[in-house]
Amino acid sequence: MAKILLNKENLFYNLGVISEHTKSKDKVAIVLKDNAYGHGILEIATMASEFGIKKAVVKTLNEALIIEKLFDYILILAEKTFHTYSHTFHIALNSLKQIDNLPKNCNVHIKVDTGMHRNGISPQELEEAILGLYKKDIHITGVFTHHKSADELSTDFFWQNTVFSRVKEDVKRICEQLLLPLPAFHSCNSAALFRHTNFDEDMARVGIASYGYLDNANVFKFPKLKPVLSLWAQKLSTRVLKKGQSVGYGGTYTACEDITVSTYDIGYGDGFLRLNERCEYTTPKGYKVLGRVSMDNLSLNTDDENVCIFEDVNTLAKIHDTITYEITTTLSPNIKKEIV
Ligand SMILES: *Cc1c(COP(=O)(O)O)cnc(C)c1O
Repeated sequence: MAKILLNKENLFYNLGVISEHTKSKDKVAIVLKDNAYGHGILEIATMASEFGIKKAVVKTLNEALIIEKLFDYILILAEKTFHTYSHTFHIALNSLKQIDNLPKNCNVHIKVDTGMHRNGISPQELEEAILGLYKKDIHITGVFTHHKSADELSTDFFWQNTVFSRVKEDVKRICEQLLLPLPAFHSCNSAALFRHTNFDEDMARVGIASYGYLDNANVFKFPKLKPVLSLWAQKLSTRVLKKGQSVGYGGTYTACEDITVSTYDIGYGDGFLRLNERCEYTTPKGYKVLGRVSMDNLSLNTDDENVCIFEDVNTLAKIHDTITYEITTTLSPNIKKEIV
């Protein structure tokens, strides 16, 4: 059976580098949305908790419920209705309208739009938001923003930081007037965290770096991290492909001489996307994917019983003209996970 191996040592290494940069494990909120970027939410949450991480970020209430016992503090980014609630939960407020649907007495992190224009209230709406929450006895435990291009060479990063500094001043002033405690402030995802040389916020929301990747790492001299996930496939059958015969849909690979070909139990149905036949893909051991990837299998020029399909998704991200995030997140949640 195909499987995902999760390298605990590498995860701990990455979390070590990250918490050194935040200067405290308590300031790291590991982002576990979308099944921990395809790695398996429960597996990653369990190991991160063992490492000493106390905070997590998820997309939905369902994800929060899966990891509830493992963290003290869970930020839920995108849930609009709550049929159940726990005081470890902190709900992201993405619009003023959402205030009407929040549970009484809950914890809220106000998301402020400092330039990405995706979610969050505008800096001008801060006072209205804080007053609206205050009237409903909702605890404002955080105020945060998100960068639109922390991993690119552009001035937007600095511009958004300036806007967020003003937001912090405004929030402090309004909270003092209302005698409210100061919320936690946070603006960093992985790339933004490592672009700060002297991080001084209350927490950082770290996703991709935990899993061992930082896009454009060379441009910014980011630290080297270690990929956590490797994908393994098992052999289904072996045959000799005679010179002139071709393999798979469309017969896009034709043997120039007699070769041994085996089929392995991974395909695009498992989230290993179809390769463009103009791009060659070679496994870490040097085996070539021959012809098109099918829904449930692919062919390689080997007869090894178990083959590592990838252990670092940077190559595949380039082949598919996408980012590392998409390659791991697309993997089917049904693939069995093993911690090594
Ligand atoms: C997904 C997400 C993150 C994590 O981003 P990485 O680049 O993976 O570190 C942080 N904050 C928000 C709001 C997100 O949606």
